[in-house]
Amino acid sequence: MRRVGIIGGGQLGLMLCESLGKLGAHIRVYDPQPNAPARRACHDFECAPFSDLASLTRFVQECDVVTYEFESIDLNALEEASLAKGVHVVPATAVLATTRSRVAEREFIERLGLPCAPFRVAHNSKELKTALDKLGLPLVVKTDRGGYDGKGQWVVRHDDEKKKCEEEASAFFQANPADQKQSLLVERRLELTAELSCIVARRKKQSVCFPIFENEHEQQILALTRLPATLPKQVQNEALAIAQKCAEGFDLEGLLTVEFFFGRLSPEGPEQLLINEFAPRPHNSGHVTRCATNLSQFDALARCLLDLPLPNLHLLPREPDQHFEMINALGKDWEAAGGRNAWREQHCRAANVLEVYDYGKEESRPLRKMGHVLRVMDRNTSS
Ligand code: ADP
Ligand code: MG
Repeated sequence: MRRVGIIGGGQLGLMLCESLGKLGAHIRVYDPQPNAPARRACHDFECAPFSDLASLTRFVQECDVVTYEFESIDLNALEEASLAKGVHVVPATAVLATTRSRVAEREFIERLGLPCAPFRVAHNSKELKTALDKLGLPLVVKTDRGGYDGKGQWVVRHDDEKKKCEEEASAFFQANPADQKQSLLVERRLELTAELSCIVARRKKQSVCFPIFENEHEQQILALTRLPATLPKQVQNEALAIAQKCAEGFDLEGLLTVEFFFGRLSPEGPEQLLINEFAPRPHNSGHVTRCATNLSQFDALARCLLDLPLPNLHLLPREPDQHFEMINALGKDWEAAGGRNAWREQHCRAANVLEVYDYGKEESRPLRKMGHVLRVMDRNTSS
């Protein structure tokens, strides 16, 4: 039985465990939290800090193949451990090295000649000031690494926000010595018409794509995913082609999510499709595939990890005017509903609900992802 290791045991790890379990894998999970969501769905659970390289090495070397849902891993340790024992890392560490750095992502996108918003990289306060002046407002400033759900970002629309950003960035540079190479990415803020994502699964140089997801964010956190997307087919096809080029550019094995912006760089400018960022793993928007496509994103990754062929991916049948929808539940949504159980009650009653998933996290925080709901919606009743 193939031993599959997952570094990180959050909800992505949990749902991957379910897919691996269906295919008979021996599932191992590594996470520092004793009550990590994936613990309940795996065979072996290793509870140790990500920085404990001896434990991480031992964990990796007791697997046949390893993947990750957590991105701030010591890549040298992962590479050395896996090479020494011939353990496959999927996607390869080189992919993660690029996708966890916004600056490296931009270099990759430019190398492939693909579109992204105009940007500059700032390594210190002086370069930041120049970037803010040269690119012109509005802007978004993002830390090179470690950001998620809008964390590590400054939106700069006017001079007050510019001043605040400069002050906070100065503290950021001081707290991050040069040897850690934490820089800031400064990019134009778009007037967004829509946000899209595309997930590609690739094995033995053959890739399959999920249909395009259309995403709505609140406070820079994904709130809702709609499938199929409502944007013109031509835009969706362009996104599919770009995502496929990215997967080839990485010589990907496993899963890659490409997030896109569709919008204008200036009020008079044309609507453009631009790459926002990558994730070399299942993605929150892809949760909708658990009910909406013949294979879920977790099933697709499980098949890559177990070296099983990937079928073509397609939407499941539905009424012509219906679409599938995923809504995220954050801690504040649970509070608004009157708590975990009340939230579950509220959603599971409706006839159009396909899945109410509680990740089983003990501690609820206002902006923490606690669960999701999948449902079928009529176009005209769309939320
Ligand atoms: P992360 O998902 O890692 O937090 P993103 O770069 O995807 O970081 O930003 C989160 C969200 O913030 C995006 O999905 C989008 O809604 C908004 N955002 C980020 N950058 C821009 C931009 N340049 N223009 C407009 N909106 C942006
Ligand atoms: Mg994002």
